[in-house]
Amino acid sequence: MASLFKVDTKDWDREILLDIFYDRDRQAILNTVIEHDLDKDILCWNLEHTGHYSVKSVCRLIQQQKGVWNEGNNIDFWKSIWNIKAPPQVMNLIWRVSTFCLPTLVQLQTKHVRVNNMCPVCNEAAETIIHILVQCKVAKACWQVFKDGTNIEGALEFTDWLAGILEGQSKNNKAKILTMCWSIWRSRNDLVWHNKRWTVLRIVAKVWEYLS
Ligand SMILES: [Zn+2]
Repeated sequence: MASLFKVDTKDWDREILLDIFYDRDRQAILNTVIEHDLDKDILCWNLEHTGHYSVKSVCRLIQQQKGVWNEGNNIDFWKSIWNIKAPPQVMNLIWRVSTFCLPTLVQLQTKHVRVNNMCPVCNEAAETIIHILVQCKVAKACWQVFKDGTNIEGALEFTDWLAGILEGQSKNNKAKILTMCWSIWRSRNDLVWHNKRWTVLRIVAKVWEYLS
């Protein structure tokens, strides 16, 4: 941007602007107020008032674009999710789940990828998000560590189940619950990509290890 200023000033060089830009863009540039106190250009993320990138702001944007952000309790629910202090990889997984971007086999089929959609872990049901993270027998065994809060039966969608299990949990447990989702998904990927099958104990241990 500094190259559009007159030499050693912070005033737009109209001649350069005249050479480079169409009238409409030139007017927009000329109408841009320059902060004369700033020493140098910096990159800012305009979806956060701090200027720093956050997964939360991207999720908010996507959900606004998909039109689901304003659906009743969704606002409060997702706000509460993004306030949970869990590692970035964990939040990234939850983000992919919330925006229907987690590449389960059923999800891949909706993108017209020709795959067998049976769960690679149990081979007993189609691999939806709620199946692999909650209903699959390995996932169910993992969730036993939160047996007071597991509301496994009844929920049809992962987000409904997540809302149920998080309710009334402490901050620490909420982080553990999200991290458990991440650990289950990681174990699934290790099986799919490296043919390595994790024990339930290992999946659960990874949660504590990752949060310690
Ligand atoms: Zn399964």
